[in-house]
Amino acid sequence: MFLRRKSARPVAVVEEQWLDDLPLECRLVRSQRKSLAVHVSHDQIEVRAPVFVSEAEIKRFLDKHRRWVLRKVEEKQQRHSERLDLGDGGRILYKARDTRVVHQLASSPAVTVINKTDGQTLRISGQGLEAGAPDSQAAAARILRQWLQSQAKAYLPQRTQALADYLGVGDKLKEVVFRKTRSKWGHCTSAGRIQYNWLIMLAPDGVIDYMISHEVCHLLHMNHSKAYWQAVSRVCPDYQRYVGWLKQHEHRLWF
Ligand SMILES: [Zn+2]
Repeated sequence: MFLRRKSARPVAVVEEQWLDDLPLECRLVRSQRKSLAVHVSHDQIEVRAPVFVSEAEIKRFLDKHRRWVLRKVEEKQQRHSERLDLGDGGRILYKARDTRVVHQLASSPAVTVINKTDGQTLRISGQGLEAGAPDSQAAAARILRQWLQSQAKAYLPQRTQALADYLGVGDKLKEVVFRKTRSKWGHCTSAGRIQYNWLIMLAPDGVIDYMISHEVCHLLHMNHSKAYWQAVSRVCPDYQRYVGWLKQHEHRLWF
């Protein structure tokens, strides 16, 4: 089977179900690359190999990295099982608390956080949320997205400006914008434009403030130098805790 890929390698030969002694489907993809590599996702192992490497050599390579692959599979499956579920009765991580999602049919969209001793509930109300509606999860995602975007707009620009003013770089901050990008929670350009991913509003307040500190301190240092991290630790002394929290939980905030 030939597969046209988007990347620089134009044509690759793909063999499905290549090895059957691994816990997941294993694909072998041969292309013009120069070295062997393994990529693991929650439902698939993909071995990428140069065109002329023998199968025996590829199998030796996999045997050598077998423990790493198995550990990676476990980690990816665990993360996949923890991903956010916006269906009625689903679960999400909201402000670091495991939270139940409840749908409610209503004429206008709203999101309400209900705290009770026996747990936290996020009630998503709006149209298309009647029980059994085929697209209710997509409707809930739309309503939650709008709610998070408006929370982000109400909170992040003014906090960002306040911190920039405090650090004496208020005039360097030109613009705060919002974008959902796969790779980054925030971004700061040398032109003074700070970009935030509004999904961060699902995170605890300390993590949000760390992200603001991270970007605003780039107005002082456009790098991740020692001096930069010293500046971050002055305004956000617990920053390492928040970096760690994001690393551990960020996969649960995406939808
Ligand atoms: Zn940075």
